[in-house]
Amino acid sequence: MIPVNEPLLPGRELEYINDCITTGWISSAGKYIDRFEREWAAYCGRKYGVAVCNGTVALELALSALDIPAGREVILPSFTIVSCLEAVLRNSLIPVLVDCDPRTYCMDIADVRRKITPQTAAIMPVHIYGHPVNMAELLPLAKAHNLRIIEDAAEAHGAECLVDGKWKRCGSFGDVSAFSFYANKNITTGEGGMVLTDDPAIAAKLQARRNLCFGGKERFRHEDRGWNYRMTNLQAAMGCAQLERIDAFIARKLDMAARYNTGLQNLPLQLPFIEPWAKTSVWMYAVVLEDSVPFDANEFAGRLMALGVQTRPFFKGMHEQPVYRQMGLFLDASLPVTERIYRRGLYLPSGQAITDEQIEQVITSVRSTLV
Ligand SMILES: *Cc1c(COP(=O)(O)O)cnc(C)c1O
Repeated sequence: MIPVNEPLLPGRELEYINDCITTGWISSAGKYIDRFEREWAAYCGRKYGVAVCNGTVALELALSALDIPAGREVILPSFTIVSCLEAVLRNSLIPVLVDCDPRTYCMDIADVRRKITPQTAAIMPVHIYGHPVNMAELLPLAKAHNLRIIEDAAEAHGAECLVDGKWKRCGSFGDVSAFSFYANKNITTGEGGMVLTDDPAIAAKLQARRNLCFGGKERFRHEDRGWNYRMTNLQAAMGCAQLERIDAFIARKLDMAARYNTGLQNLPLQLPFIEPWAKTSVWMYAVVLEDSVPFDANEFAGRLMALGVQTRPFFKGMHEQPVYRQMGLFLDASLPVTERIYRRGLYLPSGQAITDEQIEQVITSVRSTLV
């Protein structure tokens, strides 16, 4: 079977992790933590990086550091991972969902504009499958309404967006930005995440709250509440080694996408669309069945699996989640694009370890399923 994602750890990962073990620096202090924070922030064009134990808590902590009063609204896409919604709810804020663009699957900015109210405090753009949200439109909108931005860049390591004539990396736009380094992301620490910001006061809050807000002078005297969301030096060691390879990783992803694009032409399948103002990092190669196909994504996935090709379904929109509906949330939400692509979309094997032969095999399997 061709797995949907397999990481590649080809560089100095083992050497750096060995260094942690032989020197005894295995918890959340150590030179790799500092280095990974500094280097990842610099790569993204930011001043401060605060490493944490995964991308989900990165979002929660990022939002917490903005200290938005409870009960205010945060606008976010329905088409995303549950982590985004949980970050909003766990900060006692009200989620307001928007639909997505039918071609990039990123948040629909016209819908954001419609849903801004006097209660809105922030917007959470999520760069989906490596394609950036149109930040050139979103940033001025946020500014005009005095809204904060929490950027979820967990799928967009190295992706870029054209703003004011300049290409800028995803993760450089938000008041706070969150990354994940889970095993299937473009660079990985196994489990891991980071929050980036340019604001020294926010950075100080992030550092304190990820570490239980221990006191300065008196360690066990607490003036604020926090969590233990620390990353280990071992994880950061892996991150440093992965970061040394990021250019090659992204080049390979683009090469993979080019091969899929060529091999999957002239099928009733919507292939990834890239806006002229976007440079994708191709986190996942996502396809959507056209309406002429007489079966849905679930059936498509089953047929591909029978041919030895593992896929992943698209996100089920947050407004269709039983858990939130039971809480009385989103009961009359109608977000047709999100609803449609959830039923018609999946992503093909897209991991770093995939070979050219496997890509060809996937193409042959998809063609035989659809022709
Ligand atoms: C992976 C992901 C996260 C969460 O990251 P974890 O490290 O798995 O907790 C958050 N947002 C998006 C969009 C993701 O794809």
